[in-house]
Amino acid sequence: MLSPTRRLLPALALCSAAMAGPLAPPPARGDSLPARAVHVADYDMRVRFSPETKRLEGQQRIVWRNPAPEAVSELWFHLYLNAFKNSKSTFFVESGGQLRGDRMAEDGWGWVEVRSIRRADGVDLAPGATFEHPDDDNADDRTVWRVPLPEPVPPGGEIALDVAFEAKLPRIFARTGYFRDYLLAGQWFPKLGVYEPAGHRGRAEGGWNCHQFHANSEFYADFGHYRVELTLPKHFVVGATGKRVLRRENPDGTSTHVFEQGDVVDFAWTASPRFLEVKATFSAEKDVTAEEYAETARLLGRSLDEVRLSDVEVTVLLQPEHAAQADRHVRAAKAGIKWFGLWYGRYPYPTLTVVDPAYGAGGSGGMEYPTFITAGTSTLFNRWPLDRVLAPEGVTVHEFGHQYWQGMVASNEFEEPWLDEGFNSYSTGKVMKRVYGPTLVQALGLRLGELESARAQNSVDRMFDRIRSSSWGFSPGNYGFNSYARTQLTLLTFEGLVGAETMARVMRTYHERWRFRHPRSEDFYDVVAEVAGPHRRAYFERTVERPGILDDEVASVKSEQVREPRGVFGEGEKKATVTTKQARQKEAKADEAGGRPWRTTVVVRRRGELSLPTSLRLEYEGGKAQTVALREHEPGGSELETASLAGSPGAGEPWSGRWKRLELTGERRLVSATLDPEDRLVLDVNRLNNSRRVEPDGRAAAHWGARWVFWLQQLLAVAGL
Ligand SMILES: [Zn+2]
Repeated sequence: MLSPTRRLLPALALCSAAMAGPLAPPPARGDSLPARAVHVADYDMRVRFSPETKRLEGQQRIVWRNPAPEAVSELWFHLYLNAFKNSKSTFFVESGGQLRGDRMAEDGWGWVEVRSIRRADGVDLAPGATFEHPDDDNADDRTVWRVPLPEPVPPGGEIALDVAFEAKLPRIFARTGYFRDYLLAGQWFPKLGVYEPAGHRGRAEGGWNCHQFHANSEFYADFGHYRVELTLPKHFVVGATGKRVLRRENPDGTSTHVFEQGDVVDFAWTASPRFLEVKATFSAEKDVTAEEYAETARLLGRSLDEVRLSDVEVTVLLQPEHAAQADRHVRAAKAGIKWFGLWYGRYPYPTLTVVDPAYGAGGSGGMEYPTFITAGTSTLFNRWPLDRVLAPEGVTVHEFGHQYWQGMVASNEFEEPWLDEGFNSYSTGKVMKRVYGPTLVQALGLRLGELESARAQNSVDRMFDRIRSSSWGFSPGNYGFNSYARTQLTLLTFEGLVGAETMARVMRTYHERWRFRHPRSEDFYDVVAEVAGPHRRAYFERTVERPGILDDEVASVKSEQVREPRGVFGEGEKKATVTTKQARQKEAKADEAGGRPWRTTVVVRRRGELSLPTSLRLEYEGGKAQTVALREHEPGGSELETASLAGSPGAGEPWSGRWKRLELTGERRLVSATLDPEDRLVLDVNRLNNSRRVEPDGRAAAHWGARWVFWLQQLLAVAGL
């Protein structure tokens, strides 16, 4: 979803779209991208929506296949909509009824109830079912439901269930619900958790992974095939996950829309009579140039065939008042399909639907579901000067990016949100820069890009928790910063250390290997070690597995001509005195003969807990410069191993403690010293202290950009972002 700490601009609209196009997966091309997912949980659902009561009546046929080598004797379900049932739910207690700047409407409650659950042979499974609260002691939470089975499902066996349920959608808030005649149904049906066999994501023994609905947590589910029949009054325009395979008109004035999609982990849908349906096609032939294919193949070291994309039918369901922005949404959606596809692997689904939420329903904006995303815009962006602000594009590209990070690489968002939101923030930033340039906002003399926005949040007054935390495990108010911006900067800093090509190959390999599967952090580190070298794992152990701030500084600089010795020298009879006057005369002579050498002293310090290899650029009078690599290692650690994080092992100066003094003697006077002169370590919370001049000249010696980044930090701090 959109970052809770990053609503720079009001995101107000919703949207959805129905898709068309071939359902078959793209033909296998003999490359390393898996063509299909293993379907563990299939859902065949029939749902009727009543606009008057905002209720859904549903029937499900669920088929679950036991992926484990042991028999499984119970099923665990998510009943997410009960997060909105009353003020005692864990979601409500954690969020206080507020999320992402949105507030839950009074009496806008929502819930879901299972009316019956039977095995396909008719055996009633309801007796013995209980609500569970695996994450906290909140016995009032009704979002997790455990159903014991009369006979276990054998290893590799399957069970078919018939479930009848009724749901009441909440007033739009926190991703899902209704507002007037608009609805966005997300997390709306009884849905299985994930049964993890032993060894899966590091589990010691098999068991269900089925967390409660938390304020910030999102989702984790198995892949499957969804076929959903939606029946509602015929004047509604409907959009959903997957491809519409049928629309049937019924005698009672309703229409039934049937959508299908395989290889997905969820199903969401939307309806409103007001949607403007905009259709476009992403063409793998026309929307990508031969040079772009060639450039990608070179970058990744792959064949052209491996980076070739597929066509996608794009539908944008726009609010009529945003008609002027239709092309912007289409362009952003295509930008996502193209660059995520080129860099990480082709988008495998035939459709993509972008939903523009209605005014007043912004709580459902900026969200992602398989092949179905919600945008975030406002009429403000229709006209000058805000038509130049790329906020709607940023939201659409970000939500599209979740097709890759969480939709296909289906990490556990509850437990490791950084693998989802952080990877996506990193990728989104790169796509936005590639397609729209580095500047997203230009106003009041400020230029703001994706990178600056992330950096502006990276300030010392935040809590730098362990990045790898569960979504409810961060210090209050710091989930967003740590999972989005800080992770983005962490990945960008790694890219700065290893280079763009290696980083691109790491990300490609990780996506490819874990597409349609459930990785955890160690799986990513393994790919890092394999592609970038085993020693690079240390980077993530420091930045992700441990809390801490990076703040390197040049504490002092001094550059003086070497003085002639003065004082008393020798012992006994041979004692002689060199007076200050004599010494000065000698110095004057030396100066006439061509000058004395200069002694330069630079003290560098680590103000934060995090130490990374860096470099120090020394600029001398006359324009000469030198760069000293500062290798770092931890006490007891292997210097060689960590040193090579920076480049060639053994090169440069070791720097293992909190501070270091460098003494250099040369022919010229130092002008300035700058740490990380190429600005590779974007995680550094303060670049203003990275540089210092020998003679203060009235302006900060800071690197380009540092000054306004500082002011932006102040501005955003004041704005509470
Ligand atoms: Zn997101």
